[in-house]
Amino acid sequence: MSATSADGGCATLRGLVTCQACGLLCRCRGTPDTLCCPRCRARLHARKPNSVSRTWAFVIAAYILYIPANTLPILETRSLFDVHSNTIMSGVILFWNSGSWFVAALIFFASIVVPLTKLIALTLLLVSVQRRMDWQPRQRTRLYRLVDAIGRWSMLDIYVAALSVALVQVESFASMRAGLGAAAFGAVVVLTMLAAHSFDPRLIWDERGS
Ligand SMILES: [Zn+2]
Repeated sequence: MSATSADGGCATLRGLVTCQACGLLCRCRGTPDTLCCPRCRARLHARKPNSVSRTWAFVIAAYILYIPANTLPILETRSLFDVHSNTIMSGVILFWNSGSWFVAALIFFASIVVPLTKLIALTLLLVSVQRRMDWQPRQRTRLYRLVDAIGRWSMLDIYVAALSVALVQVESFASMRAGLGAAAFGAVVVLTMLAAHSFDPRLIWDERGS
């Protein structure tokens, strides 16, 4: 069933709210946020509660942690005489200098470009929704779907980065442990996924419907 007609006009304006827990389409008068689903008793929300402010909180935290994720060592390798620490970027440079350009480009793309692009895309969506812009809603929804879809594969980034650096160091290491950069990078990935999950893409269309 389609809740929205092509020319706009959303279900909320017609007094209809879908229960997030069981999917029941409820008809309600007044504010849905104070009502419960008649079938499963879950609280009804027309939109995700505090979607914009929660998404901002996650995005800002991710931006802050993006700095240590790229400047602190992601992997520390200790041999008897030596301690090596590698950041993501130094891993990329190591591969580049050793002639493995494809691997260097892959790590650079997966660990530096993709997380930053996701954060910029979420920032763009947040600003456009806050400013109530009626601009390319279909393209913005597509952008959100892309950010959300990439999020599910994001944890791969850290494995690619850590394993690649480990491969470079494999001859010299005696013991190997993840550095603080790895923890920060993992936090960036998780925070970006939470930000994408907190954002309600229906807000993009609210200007159309009202
Ligand atoms: Zn329900």
